[in-house]
Amino acid sequence: MRKSNINKKEIKEIPINNKKNIGLSDLVVIKFGGSSITKKADNQFEMNYEVLNQSAEELYRAIKKTKYKVALICGVGPFGHTNVKKLNLNDGIKTREQEEGTQKTIVDCNFVAQETSTALEKFGLKTKIIPGYLVCKQDNRKAISFDTKEYVKAIHGGFIPITTGTMVKDKTLKWSVMSGDTAVAELCKQLRPRKVIMGTDVDGIYTADPKVNPKAKLIESITKENVPKILEMVGESNSVDVTGGMKGKLEKLALTLNGVPGEIFNLFTKGNLEKAFIGEEIKDTKIRL
Ligand code: ADP
Repeated sequence: MRKSNINKKEIKEIPINNKKNIGLSDLVVIKFGGSSITKKADNQFEMNYEVLNQSAEELYRAIKKTKYKVALICGVGPFGHTNVKKLNLNDGIKTREQEEGTQKTIVDCNFVAQETSTALEKFGLKTKIIPGYLVCKQDNRKAISFDTKEYVKAIHGGFIPITTGTMVKDKTLKWSVMSGDTAVAELCKQLRPRKVIMGTDVDGIYTADPKVNPKAKLIESITKENVPKILEMVGESNSVDVTGGMKGKLEKLALTLNGVPGEIFNLFTKGNLEKAFIGEEIKDTKIRL
């Protein structure tokens, strides 16, 4: 198991009011996990339209009830991970084949954004796709800048910005993978939303991967006190995932939530998204760091 590279001290030292803190208190940052809106478990280049359309409808209802603003981040599942793994795109782009694979991966990730936008617009929600490579720059797979101007502009203009995980420019590697979870973390750090809700294909974070270990127990609450211990337990993704799976997600959140409430829940369960959005109780993992 990979050791966690963050510790309690680091979590405490993040300043609450950094300069970029814009404080959009009526903003909800939402993640549609690749495991739920694509056929990630089967490793097929296919959207899961059933979950996507259901989620779009619930989102429409929830926004209507609350008037909260939304920024939506999508995982891309096989649309990103397959080629990244096959052509080794996250370890430095050196060949022509890798360069072409990078461009193809970008097109495939944009497809997920487009399909998500279409699903939301069917319910009259206005969307604005913001490709990750236009806002994020990385060095050695880590974000070194993430520009939120376009998000703020879109949100104030009544749009739901949509960004997917994708390939972005990398100072050292030429291109590298920006995961949807990185985008969630950056929006959270800079915009200070009222909450972050993340839909995946299991009920939350368990003591072990629930798809592998049937004895795994759902962790209902993650706090500053128990997060380092939980990070030691949590595994990576059960399907092809080059971005760290559940562990990567929690590590990024632990470094950025800093007071913003987070929730990880099952997007397959009808009603979950709407309830999480408006603040009703569901079976999930609640994070307060
Ligand atoms: P998404 O694509 O929805 O963002 P990931 O594939 O990155 O989700 O992570 C979710 C997967 O992580 C689950 O399908 C599960 O199999 C796996 N996983 C590994 N360890 C855990 C754990 N401790 N708790 C929950 N899920 C886990």
